[in-house]
Amino acid sequence: MSKAVLVDPSKCINCKACQVACKHWNETGYEDLEKVEAYADLNIPPAITPKTWMRVAVKEIDDGDRPVYRFTKTQCMHCEDAACVKACPTGATHKDDEGYTVFDAKKCIGCNYCVSACPFQACKYDEEKKEIFRCIFCPDRRAAGIATACSTHCPTGCLTYGDRDDMIKAAEAKLAEYKKDYPNACIYGKEEVGGMHYIYVLQDKPSTYGLPDKPTVPAGVAVWNALVKPGGGIAAAAVVIGVGTAAAINARHRRMEKLQKEKSAAGGE
Ligand code: SF4
Ligand code: SF4
Ligand code: SF4
Repeated sequence: MSKAVLVDPSKCINCKACQVACKHWNETGYEDLEKVEAYADLNIPPAITPKTWMRVAVKEIDDGDRPVYRFTKTQCMHCEDAACVKACPTGATHKDDEGYTVFDAKKCIGCNYCVSACPFQACKYDEEKKEIFRCIFCPDRRAAGIATACSTHCPTGCLTYGDRDDMIKAAEAKLAEYKKDYPNACIYGKEEVGGMHYIYVLQDKPSTYGLPDKPTVPAGVAVWNALVKPGGGIAAAAVVIGVGTAAAINARHRRMEKLQKEKSAAGGE
């Protein structure tokens, strides 16, 4: 059965044990210490990087006479309707049989379309390794029947791992409780972008946690996927979005195909 992590930011203390556990288990390496020391706030690092596949984002909100900080674990959400998958012209970024978003380095041509398309800024291209990095939802641990590294090491109960259906039920139970005191409380990730493998139960609107209120597949990506991407109907695309635009996109596609052939000739697949 499909797994998910339930995230309850009201229980997060920004200890970053999850962030360190992810690095440790996946051997991603550590950020440049000089850069880390230069960060002016608690956002360390301030964005997902090839070495930091998940991070605890810190958002300061104005609560009248004093600032309030919200801590939110962020990473690839493994969206069902994944913009990155739709944007990828080669199938390098794709879905596995269980619905997690995965990556095949041999097929990547470094176009960075997936990076631009993601509504959560959750994947990054490593210029040195020539690969895309994102949360991989700990497939080795899942296969062994154990929870993800991040959720295993959370000391406060902010992160719970389990069957997705059970995590949704747990989120709904918490929501009923939170609604009594927080009218804007909501569940995030049950329906958004087709459903996610991270389900959040929030006491306020998603944007107050630094999450997009209504994450979507960018319109251009949807058109590209439906009409222009290999396998789509290029004739229909010309009618709908105009011959000029379609021609421009396909010129880019031909350039990418050429790049892919060059990469294959140089030793890739
Ligand atoms: S969060 Fe971004 S990188 Fe992850 S599946 Fe969704 S679109 Fe792709
Ligand atoms: S599921 Fe695994 S790869 Fe993803 S953030 Fe958690 S520890 Fe990192
Ligand atoms: S381990 Fe838990 S409490 Fe600590 S930063 Fe991560 S989610 Fe928050």
